[in-house]
Amino acid sequence: MSRKPIIAGNWKMNKTVKEAHEFVEAVKDKVPSPDIVDSVVAAPFVALDRIVADAKGSNLKIAAENVHFEESGAYTGEVSPVMLQDLGVDYVIIGHSERRAYFAETDDTVNKKVLAALAHHLLPIFCVGESLDEREGGRWQAVIKNQVTKAFAGVPADQAPSVVVAYEPIWAIGTGKSATAEIAEEVCHFIRETIAGLYGKDAAEKVRIQYGGSVKPANIKDFLAQADIDGGLVGGASLQPESFLALLDGAKA
Ligand code: PGA
Repeated sequence: MSRKPIIAGNWKMNKTVKEAHEFVEAVKDKVPSPDIVDSVVAAPFVALDRIVADAKGSNLKIAAENVHFEESGAYTGEVSPVMLQDLGVDYVIIGHSERRAYFAETDDTVNKKVLAALAHHLLPIFCVGESLDEREGGRWQAVIKNQVTKAFAGVPADQAPSVVVAYEPIWAIGTGKSATAEIAEEVCHFIRETIAGLYGKDAAEKVRIQYGGSVKPANIKDFLAQADIDGGLVGGASLQPESFLALLDGAKA
């Protein structure tokens, strides 16, 4: 089964609206066709309205970096899936390890967010990953299986392939120390087997799994050459237009 690669930049808490706009203007006409690769940038909420408009008609898709699971209500400071859908956002990152570590995201809130995103036609980029302690303690399989199983709870089989899974080992994020392609493949394969256990092999073969953690233009091809790795979720190396475009180039067959 050949799955289309998906490269997503994750800007995290970077770029003003003006800077986000300038980035999109710089790349939008150079982004490859969505027949070859899905190209996405995830931006802070305040920039979304502007860059969705900037990217309109181009091959660049826009993601939010988080979403609340309720449609509206007394949740000061939160942004709902209805609001993101209304803006025309395509994807949303859910359960990034920084949100789990600093903003009390749990497997339960991650699951609610995945369900809410799908209900509002936002494609989830759902993040999983083990800490260094969990890896060194030989617990990575249990941790990953638990995160994947809980996130997909209640997701109907026909919608499961719409979920993009991002494997991001916590020890590789922003450290400059990427996992080897072999380690990343071992875990991504395990994620696919876990999904096959939930939905069957056919559905699992359709799910796209990204690797994230110190991905850069110099190593993207090594990851994409692996059987179960279908893309990258990229922080630092997605912030500059040239580097982002080089990542997209690396995803072309
Ligand atoms: P990094 O971040 O590429 O800067 O390591 C990846 C991520 O956290 O999504």
